[in-house]
Amino acid sequence: MNETGRPGLDTFAAAKLAELEARSQRRRLIDTGREASYLAERDGRSLISFCCNDYLNLSHNESVKEAAIEATRRYGTGSGASRLVTGNNPLFARLEARLARLKQAEDCVVFGSGYLANLGIIPALTGPGDLILADELAHACLLSGMKLSGAQSHIFRHNDLDHLAALLATHRSGARHCLVLTDGVFSMDGDLAPVAEMARLARANDAWLMTDDAHGLGILGGGRGSSFVEGIKLDVPLQMGTLSKAIGGYGGYICASRPVCDFLRTRARTLIYSTGLPPATVAAAIAAIDFIEANPDYIERPVANARRFTRALGLPDPQSPIVPVILGAETATLAASAMLEAEGFLVTAIRPPTVPPGTARLRTTFTALHRAEDIDRLSSLFRERILGSEAA
Ligand SMILES: *Cc1c(COP(=O)(O)O)cnc(C)c1O
Repeated sequence: MNETGRPGLDTFAAAKLAELEARSQRRRLIDTGREASYLAERDGRSLISFCCNDYLNLSHNESVKEAAIEATRRYGTGSGASRLVTGNNPLFARLEARLARLKQAEDCVVFGSGYLANLGIIPALTGPGDLILADELAHACLLSGMKLSGAQSHIFRHNDLDHLAALLATHRSGARHCLVLTDGVFSMDGDLAPVAEMARLARANDAWLMTDDAHGLGILGGGRGSSFVEGIKLDVPLQMGTLSKAIGGYGGYICASRPVCDFLRTRARTLIYSTGLPPATVAAAIAAIDFIEANPDYIERPVANARRFTRALGLPDPQSPIVPVILGAETATLAASAMLEAEGFLVTAIRPPTVPPGTARLRTTFTALHRAEDIDRLSSLFRERILGSEAA
């Protein structure tokens, strides 16, 4: 207590931490070296990592690294200002054109990160008087953007089209604009949104569908993401995503029509009031897209490796490179993760509030370079030491 009788700042923080620690929800940053997407070095030990989103190992790809180095030599390490001032390095236009082409959209806007993109886009497009409907498992930054917008908002049950339709029937008519938000690939569950059906439902209700395809780009739909099925682009007017997963770098983007993109360049606060990405990051993303477009077989490998794992465990075939094994309790999940680490595998425990209470999980992700024998050893450990004990 200080003289006002209120707990001081440090007392507040320490008490909050103790409370989280008691619920096994305290988090810690651990030094981790990463020499490739499937490796992690901790305390001088090299572990096989099954929890990295660098699905194609492009953060270590030679041509991607070369592009970043060359851009740094030529343009320096930082962009110097907001893109609207002097930070709009010519590489941005090239990257935006490449993303727009890949996503079959008219235009594209690149933001500082996926999180920043959603915090900028959603409040620019909607506000008080509008309606936002979001999947309950949508990524935290979609929900943050939703809150920031001030629009009336409702959450529909995960991938539940009937619930979405019911919410539209109840609330759509009273609102000016309506935005429907979903992950394309759900980041903690690895399943896909029913994008085709959602697009129809949105269109029929004069609502705008926005998919966050952070985990789809470079992986699904021949690299174009989850809004493409058998080469055909679904009716998704707002395709958002990140450059920090399969692209192997950093940054966020939205692909949309020209008027929408021009409006976001004018009005999205996280674009206007935040410094442009470093030139190296922009150049690396262009080189990563070159690689993805030139290697259609290689980009199939993360999902194929995930399938090897699910088949060994008798789980349904994966829809993405993300395979969650839900254990429920935080303590059991932390213990399973520690056991795997002792055996040489890194699979981080994912706990609430990242996932709903009671659904703590080991979230495994598979990359193009994982070796079959490592996947098989991991699946044996899951079968014998994690799932086996549940069945018993
Ligand atoms: C990782 C992720 C983001 C955030 O992207 P960053 O570029 O890392 O900020 C947004 N949405 C989803 C679904 C994600 O998985």
